[in-house]
Amino acid sequence: MTEAQKTLDRETRDRLVEEIAARVGVRAERGRRFAELTSLRVGGEIDWVVVPETEEQAARVAGALDEANVPWRVLGAGSNVLADDERHGYVVLTMREVKGGARFDGEKVSVSAGYSLPRLCVDAARQGLSGIEGLNGIPGTVGGALWMNAGAFGHEIGNVVESVRAARGGEVVEVPGTQIKWDYRHTSFRDGELLLGATLRLVADDAEKIAARMEESKRRRMETQPHGSRSAGCFFKNPPGSGLSTGRMIDEMGMKGERRGGAQVSPVHANFIVTEGKDARAADALALAEEIRERIRRERGIELEYEVELWRGGAPDAETADATQKGGAADEAAKED
Ligand SMILES: Cc1cc2nc3c(=O)[nH]c(=O)nc-3n(C[C@H](O)[C@H](O)[C@H](O)COP(=O)(O)OP(=O)(O)OC[C@H]3O[C@@H](n4cnc5c(N)ncnc54)[C@H](O)[C@@H]3O)c2cc1C
Repeated sequence: MTEAQKTLDRETRDRLVEEIAARVGVRAERGRRFAELTSLRVGGEIDWVVVPETEEQAARVAGALDEANVPWRVLGAGSNVLADDERHGYVVLTMREVKGGARFDGEKVSVSAGYSLPRLCVDAARQGLSGIEGLNGIPGTVGGALWMNAGAFGHEIGNVVESVRAARGGEVVEVPGTQIKWDYRHTSFRDGELLLGATLRLVADDAEKIAARMEESKRRRMETQPHGSRSAGCFFKNPPGSGLSTGRMIDEMGMKGERRGGAQVSPVHANFIVTEGKDARAADALALAEEIRERIRRERGIELEYEVELWRGGAPDAETADATQKGGAADEAAKED
């Protein structure tokens, strides 16, 4: 948090958020909870949720919040985020309404950040275009996938990106894919950068063959992961460079099915923590996660790193400390799914 953000009292902040939302013409909502906005369905109240509907609006809101020193974070579908049960005193810029439609032009497709990644995979397959069928079944938005360089079974979104549209200084700026470093579940975008959309370059192929490959990646996912459960995918990274699978280690400790409150180590995939019931809390998932880390530390001498992003709330004037410092917990993520 910058010095200027620290001195912003809540009343001033609220007035600024209202003014900015009115000026740009976007909804600004109070009283929303992370439990409604993330796939784990847990997490506390958010001071403000701002809902742009176009890429231009999103760029303008981000620019204006930066200029006013109001801390914010961007959320896609919330499928890689565990937000704690505290109150979160920053603005959440949700990109889910910035979706438009997928616009195909020959082998290229342009799509906004809020568009669903699974839907895009289906659209591309219907157009007879190959390149993202391996990503079919990764939940979330295109923006979240770009930020994380989402991937599965050897495919990554970064491999097919021709350019990304990002918000800079309140404007929409086109960044060529070649200027972006696409690493394993990590990109060279700076913390606090807002991605608005992308143009992907795909390759024409036989529609039936694409459909068969999509089916195959779906089948592998269904076999190895819990489906229909509230999760955030793999909770921990695999220990880098070790060749070890975190899921297998947790399984070998006999922790599959272990419960803490409304959280459970998935009986299907031990690196998935799932939540159940309306009383489930982020604290349940965190307690279980910390217990797993403690046992792996004790029994294997390995320090597990979180794969999901932990978003901390807290005292209204202190909790903004890491707002706009995105991606911390998920950096260098190493998904095994
Ligand atoms: C059942 C299940 C299976 C999964 N399997 C996989 C898998 O196989 N491979 C894989 O890679 N992931 C997997 N995931 C994790 C998750 O689906 C991906 O990381 C996904 O790309 C996150 O997209 P999202 O829109 O939900 O992002 P969120 O969870 O909302 O956000 C994740 C991060 O991206 C940032 N972000 C989101 N949108 C933007 C934007 N427009 N601009 C800038 N930053 C943004 C957020 O600030 C945050 O830092 C799985 C999750 C689940 C629940």
